[in-house]
Amino acid sequence: MSFFEIHDPAFGAYVLGNAPVKRLATGFDWVEGPVWFGDLGCLLFSDIPNNRILRWTEDGVTTFRQPSNYANGHTRDRQGRLISCQHGTRSVTRTDWDGSVTVVADGFDGKPLNSPNDVIVTKDGSIWFTDPHYGISTDYEGFRATQELPCQVYRIDPTGSIEAVITDMACPNGLAFSPGESRLYVADTGRMFHSDPQHIRVYDMVGGRPVNGRVFHTISPGCADGIRCDSDGNLWSSAADGVHCIAPDGHLMGKILVPELVSNICFGGRAKHRLFITASTSVYSVILNRNGVQWP
Ligand code: MG
Repeated sequence: MSFFEIHDPAFGAYVLGNAPVKRLATGFDWVEGPVWFGDLGCLLFSDIPNNRILRWTEDGVTTFRQPSNYANGHTRDRQGRLISCQHGTRSVTRTDWDGSVTVVADGFDGKPLNSPNDVIVTKDGSIWFTDPHYGISTDYEGFRATQELPCQVYRIDPTGSIEAVITDMACPNGLAFSPGESRLYVADTGRMFHSDPQHIRVYDMVGGRPVNGRVFHTISPGCADGIRCDSDGNLWSSAADGVHCIAPDGHLMGKILVPELVSNICFGGRAKHRLFITASTSVYSVILNRNGVQWP
């Protein structure tokens, strides 16, 4: 069987025909937020309904943190520290090297955030995160609470100040910068559990802020949740049938077929060419012929 579906002949050079999509671990309830720690040789990821962050190594899976305050997306900052989105505390947190956890954002305009979902850090050290309502409107991903803010994308300055940088989306979810940070991609999952059209939007970065937002690509089947760029500027996105690779001009290059609904992805491994995939109840990986660029 093939693990890949080629839509553009150029995609043939992006994958290794004999590289399998491996299931690394399974038995979870709903996994998201993979983040690679090459220095520790491990992958951290969230099992949201079970309120825990797990650690995968070649030796197996252990618990990193439980309870995790229903953590979802993760990344690392410029110092390599873990940055996490937490539904349970409606906050973004940083875990320092001594293990202490610091809240870096839990509100805007005097109101509590909804449920921070996904997060990335740019070269200037600012933290960008999405704040849809899923964690407070579904029992499965968190708990129920009153939504007081629209679903927006925020930027936390290195000084700690927070601003809303994207306010024109229904439910911003995954996000990724292009190489060089000239473009910002954000997945809009809309009403995730209904049939509304869902798409990935792209913004040009001007003066360090996203402008000129427009539809970049519509994933089918399913919708985009987690997204990451490779070093050529291709965007890799979660989908219902696997991971889709989309060229910078928005056309579908090809697919990695995964037997479960994919939520999030991240590049890792020694050469940053191993794609880790969280998909429903399992974690998968596949070696690609492309390197990830998204920090970390
Ligand atoms: Mg997400």
